[in-house]
Amino acid sequence: MYFIANWKMFGGLNSLNSLHKVMKFFKTFKKKRIVKVIYCPPNTLIRPMTKKLKNSKIEVGAQNCHEKLEYGAFTGSVNSKMLKSVGAKYVIIGHSEVRKAGENNRLINLKIKNSLSSGLKVIFCIGETLKEKRKKLTKKVLNQQIASGLKKIKKSKNILIAYEPVWAIGTGIIPKKKELFETITFIKKKIKNLKVLYGGSVNSDNINQLKLIENIDGFLIGGASQDHKKFIDIIKKTYN
Ligand code: PEP
Repeated sequence: MYFIANWKMFGGLNSLNSLHKVMKFFKTFKKKRIVKVIYCPPNTLIRPMTKKLKNSKIEVGAQNCHEKLEYGAFTGSVNSKMLKSVGAKYVIIGHSEVRKAGENNRLINLKIKNSLSSGLKVIFCIGETLKEKRKKLTKKVLNQQIASGLKKIKKSKNILIAYEPVWAIGTGIIPKKKELFETITFIKKKIKNLKVLYGGSVNSDNINQLKLIENIDGFLIGGASQDHKKFIDIIKKTYN
């Protein structure tokens, strides 16, 4: 099971102070061998976070990258090689908040290809909007996102899929159990042998419902991951 923390645009150096509590918890956690914890902080915290987590099994990732592999005149951007060089092992690609800012499937495909060639593992986010869901377009949208995002890419264990319905992100609403099970099954049929995580308002209350969905391989957690107690609680409750 994967537990991936997406800190979004939150956190300064002082936010790293609570990491030792997560490390302490994880060190003695009975299920640690079957659990993978990954923190995706803002780029400014990747290096210091990697240093703090040096003696733990917890890994660090980034939240996005530029699509080009070479250095270039792209003010404000960071590419996958640069992320790798400061200690990131993963990168989230295709998050709906980035898609909303103009990232399209073609760019996502390039970013995934180049991140893999830089040696990063990719957390590839897919998910439908509320409007698409209401029009019963969920499968069609997921199909398109998968087909174009992974175009000419050999499926590998270095890609994780995060199914994140856009209407569930930051809203406190989660899909119904049956609906989520069916969508995850659909994704797994489309792309065999890849881990599929769920993301969207996961918290320490609804984890008791979500953990019952057998085909979920982990969770991508935004808001609740910024509070170490809530994050630890989610991991603990998954196995209670
Ligand atoms: C996310 O940012 O990927 C996410 C799922 O956010 P939240 O948990 O806050 O809905």
